[in-house]
Amino acid sequence: MSKTSQQLFERAQKVMPGGVNSPVRAFKSVGLTPKFIDKAKGNKIYDIEGNEYLDYVGSWGPMILGHADPKVVQAVQCRVEKGLSFGACTELEVELAELITSNIQHIDMIRMVNSGTEAVMSALRLARGYTKKNKIIKFEGCYHGHSDAMLVKAGSGAMTFGDPDSAGVTKGAAEDTLLARYNDLNSVEALMKENKEDVACVIVEATAANMGVVPAAAGFLAGLRSLCDQYGALLIFDEVITGFRLAFGGAAAYFGVMPDLVTYGKIIGGGMPVGAYGGRREIMENVSPMGSVYQAGTLSGNPIAMTAGIETLKQLLSEPEIYDRINEMGAYLADGLRRISGFTVNNIGSLVCMFYTKEPVADYDSACKSDTVGFSHVFRELLAEGIYVAPSQYEAMFLNTAFTKEELNFTIETYRKILTR
Ligand code: PMP
Repeated sequence: MSKTSQQLFERAQKVMPGGVNSPVRAFKSVGLTPKFIDKAKGNKIYDIEGNEYLDYVGSWGPMILGHADPKVVQAVQCRVEKGLSFGACTELEVELAELITSNIQHIDMIRMVNSGTEAVMSALRLARGYTKKNKIIKFEGCYHGHSDAMLVKAGSGAMTFGDPDSAGVTKGAAEDTLLARYNDLNSVEALMKENKEDVACVIVEATAANMGVVPAAAGFLAGLRSLCDQYGALLIFDEVITGFRLAFGGAAAYFGVMPDLVTYGKIIGGGMPVGAYGGRREIMENVSPMGSVYQAGTLSGNPIAMTAGIETLKQLLSEPEIYDRINEMGAYLADGLRRISGFTVNNIGSLVCMFYTKEPVADYDSACKSDTVGFSHVFRELLAEGIYVAPSQYEAMFLNTAFTKEELNFTIETYRKILTR
């Protein structure tokens, strides 16, 4: 008899903490056994029992072209034949770096790493090394990966499980992390004033997507730019989710505000494990072996990962209308969900999030007002109806090029049915 997700989860729990390699995957907060996935194509994902789901997770963001895009898959298949990893230079790394630096105005140089966490950790070290200052300002509810200094009032899984501060993070590791309120420039200015000589950088999700979706309010990012300039701090946009999604140039291009450094993940690897950080030449030149800020990686710039990234970014560049299409779908889905529920539905570009509250959500405190029990109920019902959303209130619905209006209508109608049952 073929295996079931239940059977695999029982096996997994004996050999992996919580049965998973990343916490939110465990479906713990929604009280279900996770689905074990066999395959995915376009905007459909299939569990090992053969059930098909309309997939609004898209691997948490990378699959902007849909799963198993034919051109990406073919390029990877061809490349695999030549070897999986060399730990040496390849033309592919240069090609991906050039694709980015020649199309994104604020990036002169870029360094590839293996995850968003690594990108952020490295960018923070660089900001400290470059400015010779110690403190970092981050925002409540923003998630920047799981490096020690960033696990303070973090979003995503840390928020879902109600422990925004992790055990194992020493007081020392986090004491230089200062917390500000998202969309509140006064809170940033107060911290800048108090720590005048010592703020190395402000790191921000230029649209927060790990406390649910919380777009930057008008003037917020421009205000951060001015404050950073005034106090000699670097501005870092964490574009792990928004990069190549809100626009090819990410939130920076979308909002027209230029950061000093940017971090990427997800789409840049087309589904393979890639992260990157980049920015102004004079700052990036401080990275080893050119400069004194050390950062390295055995698998960084891996040829298979670079190939998937190049193919994905090339398609996004050659078909810019992709952004109009997925952004239009985002607005359509958000309007529909708002109409049938009366709840707050935040949307920017192809990111959508329904909060189970009627009050506006603009920061961490207002995001926490969402009824997460209501969310869990709807999540379970959606799954039973064949709609796969992230198993947490504090994540986004990700659209991709494979979605059709009919599928969005089906989704809106299914939400309506569930909410009026
Ligand atoms: N920054 C942001 C904005 C993210 O959304 C994430 C992951 N969701 C990360 C950093 C960490 O990336 P990774 O999971 O690849 O380490």
